Amino acid sequence: MSNKQFDVIVIGAGPGGYIGAIRAAQLGMNVACIDEWKTADGKPAPGGTCTNVGCIPSRRCCNLRSITSTPASTLASMASA
Ligand SMILES: Cc1cc2nc3c(=O)[nH]c(=O)nc-3n(C[C@H](O)[C@H](O)[C@H](O)COP(=O)(O)OP(=O)(O)OC[C@H]3O[C@@H](n4cnc5c(N)ncnc54)[C@H](O)[C@@H]3O)c2cc1C
Repeated sequence: MSNKQFDVIVIGAGPGGYIGAIRAAQLGMNVACIDEWKTADGKPAPGGTCTNVGCIPSRRCCNLRSITSTPASTLASMASA
């Protein structure tokens, strides 16, 4: 385990946490940002609710839904445009 010292330690790397951490670093502070969220295979998953289950994945579902309800002929013309 390292013995690093930080000016600020942010707990949570969601939109609130990482933006605060980036801003503190921009102001010259030595910053750590810690998050406990992991992917199903145990890898770090920063970004919080928004990146992992909220805004981004739900938008992808909405886009897929609109693609599946779009007629194949329309998709074909979009692809060739
Ligand atoms: C389905 C869904 C769709 C959404 N769509 C939108 C959208 O389109 N637009 C929009 O603006 N917002 C959307 N939101 C809301 C958005 O996701 C939240 O407002 C945003 O994620 C809140 O950010 P946050 O940093 O406050 O919290 P979070 O994103 O929840 O981040 C908190 C982080 O802290 C970590 N944490 C907590 N406790 C600890 C601990 N003790 N130790 C280490 N880490 C810890 C968590 O693992 C997590 O990563 C949506 C939410 C959901 C659920």
